[in-house]
Amino acid sequence: MKFSLYLGKYKGIKVFIHWTFSILLLWIIIANARSGLALDDSIWSVIFILSIFFCVLLHEFGHALTAQKYGIQTKDIILLPIGGLARLEKLPEDPRQELYVALAGPMVNIVIFFLLSIVVYLGGLEIDRLEETHLDKSTIVLYLASANLLLAVFNMLPAFPMDGGRVLRALLSIRMDRVRATQIAGSIGQLLAIGFVFFGLFYNPILVFIGIFIFLGAQAEVSHTTQTSFLKGFYVADVVMSNFPIVAFDAPLSKAIEKLLDGQSTHFVVVKDDMAVGTLSRDDIIKGLQAHGDQVAIEAVANKTPLRLELHLPLEEAFKKMASENTKVALIFEQNHFMGLLDQENISEFIMVKNAITK
Ligand SMILES: [Zn+2]
Repeated sequence: MKFSLYLGKYKGIKVFIHWTFSILLLWIIIANARSGLALDDSIWSVIFILSIFFCVLLHEFGHALTAQKYGIQTKDIILLPIGGLARLEKLPEDPRQELYVALAGPMVNIVIFFLLSIVVYLGGLEIDRLEETHLDKSTIVLYLASANLLLAVFNMLPAFPMDGGRVLRALLSIRMDRVRATQIAGSIGQLLAIGFVFFGLFYNPILVFIGIFIFLGAQAEVSHTTQTSFLKGFYVADVVMSNFPIVAFDAPLSKAIEKLLDGQSTHFVVVKDDMAVGTLSRDDIIKGLQAHGDQVAIEAVANKTPLRLELHLPLEEAFKKMASENTKVALIFEQNHFMGLLDQENISEFIMVKNAITK
């Protein structure tokens, strides 16, 4: 993850914190100093924020570890100033699994709320102390307890793709087609997102960011779900390109540049002894040219560990693999025989054609 600090890992799940987080802490310290708060009290508000984010981290682990139970791995968890994000390698398609994975996060905050409430009760703290805005070592537990309750409630708002929206989508998918369920949940999510932005403009700027984040997130997920639904029932073999441009691994980069300018292709197969050993993209060519000039051997700038997929793989799986590996191209094999090239452009065209037919 770019621009992030690696914090450590648990059960194979890496945790990162985004650099913008330091701005949040700095902002709190400056805001406190300007309001004339003593440094001692300022430290308590920083401890408070860090504790909340620790709870957010536990919330994300709630999602990630529940997903792990269903065999879905999580690439990483990243902490952003507006919240946490567990990047699951894929989303559970079974509505029941999606329901449990979505609920697990807010449930963690509910459990923390109850545990801290016991501490508050045993400590003899009175709830009305929350009225006092003073945050110190005697009230921090009380503040944390209420923050966790707030986190659970906020996340359970049916604003897809937030947790509550995922719960809604899962419940709808039990009764209807997943694409339709996603569209409905997405529309409700976007409506709520617009509400957040308006409300945020008057009361809280962070809500504006969260609103925009939800609006775009809903749009992206609806279009992703609709697109992948067109891929169902098809295989890599249905779209693989058997006509593809090749370049020799030991040829100079200038050869690839000639071919790039001569045709429409943006991806080349790199061959060595009649075997496909890598891929060379337009980006690779441009970067290689800038760094080494046009006489460098193609081998030096090519991607020598391209994604390899089987010809009989369902197209949907191939699409997901390419997205999760963040690559636009894959080499296709059938029992170690090289069969051709698959790129995202191919799949997009396939989706456009299917979309046109169904309309
Ligand atoms: Zn969550």
